[in-house]
Amino acid sequence: MEPDADRRGYAVWVSEIMLQQTQVATVIDYYNRWMQKWPTLQALAQASLEEVNELWAGLGYYSRGKRLQEAARKVVSELAGRMPRTAEDLQKLLPGVGRYTAGAIASISYGQLGLWVGLMCVPLHPGSTPAPFFVWSISQYGNPSSGSQATGVVDGNVIRVLCRLRCIGADSSSPAVIEQLWDMANVLVDKSRPGDFNQALMELGATVCVPKAPLCGECPVKQHCQAWRRVEKELAFTSQKLFGNPPKVPDVEDCGVGDCPLCPPATEPWDSSLGVTNFPRKAAKKPPRVMRTATCVLERGGCHGAPEYLIVQRPSSGLLAGLWEFPSLPLAQDLQKEREREELADHLQAWMGRPVAAKGLRFIGEVIHIFSHIHQTYVVYSLPLDGDVTLDPALSPSRWVTENEFHASAVSTAMKKVLKVHEKQRRQESSPVKGSKRKRGAKAQGAGSTCPGTQLSLHAFLRAPTAP
Ligand code: SF4
Repeated sequence: MEPDADRRGYAVWVSEIMLQQTQVATVIDYYNRWMQKWPTLQALAQASLEEVNELWAGLGYYSRGKRLQEAARKVVSELAGRMPRTAEDLQKLLPGVGRYTAGAIASISYGQLGLWVGLMCVPLHPGSTPAPFFVWSISQYGNPSSGSQATGVVDGNVIRVLCRLRCIGADSSSPAVIEQLWDMANVLVDKSRPGDFNQALMELGATVCVPKAPLCGECPVKQHCQAWRRVEKELAFTSQKLFGNPPKVPDVEDCGVGDCPLCPPATEPWDSSLGVTNFPRKAAKKPPRVMRTATCVLERGGCHGAPEYLIVQRPSSGLLAGLWEFPSLPLAQDLQKEREREELADHLQAWMGRPVAAKGLRFIGEVIHIFSHIHQTYVVYSLPLDGDVTLDPALSPSRWVTENEFHASAVSTAMKKVLKVHEKQRRQESSPVKGSKRKRGAKAQGAGSTCPGTQLSLHAFLRAPTAP
C-alpha cells in the first residue's frame, strides 16, 4: 500500500471519479496514464486545463476532469497539500466529490468507516459473497445495534437491492429516496465487519439481484424481500383461484400514508408482468435537447503534401469547455441547407475579418453525437485553403495540426467523428474507381505548401475560394 496518505487518497479519488464515467476495463488505461503524468496532487495542480482535457479526451463528461484539477489546486493552495481525512470533509471541501466518492476515499485511504469496497480495488467475483453477514443484518433491520461508526454504501447495485427489498417505488434518484437508502444501508451494515457486509450487498446486486432477470430463487435474502413476497403471493392467489378459493392479497408495498415519498406514484401502480423488476423506478428522462451545429474542416497542404487542419479552442466554461474543435456555429432549427451554408460563411467571415464565399463551402455529410442531455447533429463542410494563414491573436486561440496532432489534442469524440467523415470523403475522391482527380496527400485545390519559407500572407488566404 502507498505509505504517503495524501498520495493514497489522491489515487483513490482519481480512480473513483474516472469510474463514474465508464467501466473498469476502459478506465485502467486512462488511470495509468494519468498517474504516470501526475503522480501527486501537486503535479496535477500545476497542469494546464488543456493537458487535463487531452488526457481525458474520449472519457466523456469533461467537466469531471476539470473539477478534479480545480480541486487539486484547492488542496494545494488552501489545505497545504493535505487531503481531508474524513468523508464529511472530503465532500464539503472538494469540488465534484459527492457522498459515495467521499466515503470511498475516506474508507479505502484512511480506514474511516471500516473497510470500504472500492470497485477499482476489489473486483467482484461471483460466489465470494459473505452472504451470512448480509442475511443476518437484513433480518435485524429495524433492531439496529447502536454506537458504531460503521457506515453502509449506496451505489447503483445497492439502490436496486434495497428498493426491491422494501418495495420502494418512488423515483430512485429523488433526494427523499436516496436519503432513505443511505439510512437503510447505515442501519443494515454489520458493525463489526462493515467491509464484508458492503461487499456482500454490492455483489448481491451485481450477481443475483441483477436489473433484468434477478435470480430470486437463489437469493439468500428472499425471505426478507417484500418484492419477492408480493410475487409469491400473487402466484399463490392465481393458483388458488384456479380451485375457486382465492385468498385476499394485501398490497405489501403500500404503506397506507397518502403522498408517501417512497411508494410508487398512484399513476404507476404495481405491474404484475414485471414482478420484482417493478423496482427500482426512475422518473422519465427529459428528452434530450436537439441541436444542429455547422462545422467547417479548414484544410491546407502542409509539409510534404500531408494535410493540416485548423482547430480553434472553445470557451473555458460551458459544454466541452477548453476543448479544441473545427470552427463551428450553432444553427437555428429548420434552417434551409443553403441558409445554413450562408450563416457558416458569415461566421467564418466575421472570424477572419474578410469575405468568405458561401459557395466555396462544400457539404460533406452529417455527424450525429449524443451527449448526456443533447442530441447534436454536426453539419459538416470543408474548405480547402490556399496556403498558410496568420490569424489575429485577439481571436479565439487557434492552430494548425496534422492528423496525428489532431488526435493527440484535446478534441472531443464528436470532432473525431467529423474528421473521419472528412477523411472518408477524401478517400472516395482519391479512389481511381470513383474517377477523382485529387490524390490523398496532394495539395488542396489551389493550395500552396506551408513548408518553411513559403508561408503566404493573410491576403492570399482570404481570397474567395473557388466553388467545387
Ligand atoms: Fe432481489 Fe429477488 Fe433477492 Fe429480492 S429476492 S433481493 S428481488 S434477487
